[in-house]
Amino acid sequence: MRPTIGVFGSANLDHVVRVRSAPRLGETITGRSYEKVVGGKGANQALAAARAGADVRMVGAVGDDDGGLAIRSVLNRGGVDTSGLATKPGPSGTAHITVDENGDNSIVVVPGANAEVRSLTDAHRAALAGCDTVLLQLELPIRAVVEAARYAHGAGVRVVLTPAPVVPLSADQVALADVLVLNEHESAELSGVAEPRAAAQALVVMGVGVVVVTLGERGSLCVAAGADEVVEEPALPVRAVDTTAAGDTFAGCLAVALAEGQDLRAATHWATCAAALSVQRVGASPSMPDRAEIERLAG
Ligand code: ATP
Repeated sequence: MRPTIGVFGSANLDHVVRVRSAPRLGETITGRSYEKVVGGKGANQALAAARAGADVRMVGAVGDDDGGLAIRSVLNRGGVDTSGLATKPGPSGTAHITVDENGDNSIVVVPGANAEVRSLTDAHRAALAGCDTVLLQLELPIRAVVEAARYAHGAGVRVVLTPAPVVPLSADQVALADVLVLNEHESAELSGVAEPRAAAQALVVMGVGVVVVTLGERGSLCVAAGADEVVEEPALPVRAVDTTAAGDTFAGCLAVALAEGQDLRAATHWATCAAALSVQRVGASPSMPDRAEIERLAG
């Protein structure tokens, strides 16, 4: 059975400029290339989960501009149902990204239509009802995200939260997550504990069911409520060319594997294989693997 995954999150049009080195304050430079790609943590996780084999509903907003049309069309072509994606007057969310020749980037995000998703509406509830899992991040207004988590929690829909960009959350808010997927920096910020394993344990004590801390090329670790064991999953030794959206690929695929009933260790391995495939290719959504590729690698 294909799981149904709702994503209540951001969708952006990323404007990516490649340069030799980033401009200094007041400097004007010539870029090497310019590209428009669909991004935003919500859209990235939606596309990752759809490629991995889930039925995915994207819930959020785009603007009534060309960017909005482009975002909707890329999501649709990726197999994502966008009937829960509203069109708001004004610009879509955009990210303005400069990538230098070392692969280091600087990013300005203008939330645009994403900022108009101020609270959870009946239309949002209808789109999320009946999902096995809802994927949440923090790129929509926080009040709406917390309302979505509370609604899903009450409706028996599994809540998978990536708390990025990280903001302080109360213990009650953190405890709405059945699964937290976050990187080292986010786990330290949210728990107040620097060491990732101890941070994950602290977040479980706050009431989260499962905490998965991703550690880049060092892999990930998971702590589950009621289990003494810390599950460690090394990253695959691959030549990474672009790690953009590795975390979103990991989160989207982890949600699919868990919704299909894989246990935590197997699901983490599956997500790790998906992320390893994505880092070997350039771009965010274009680099995400399909189900057959993940299955071949995961064995
Ligand atoms: P991003 O913000 O770029 O999406 P993130 O900080 O949320 O990333 P990471 O911890 O960097 O997430 O990466 C997520 C997962 O991707 C890791 O747990 C690992 O499995 C895989 N990964 C990341 N970097 C590499 C790498 N260089 N080689 C192999 N796998 C990697």
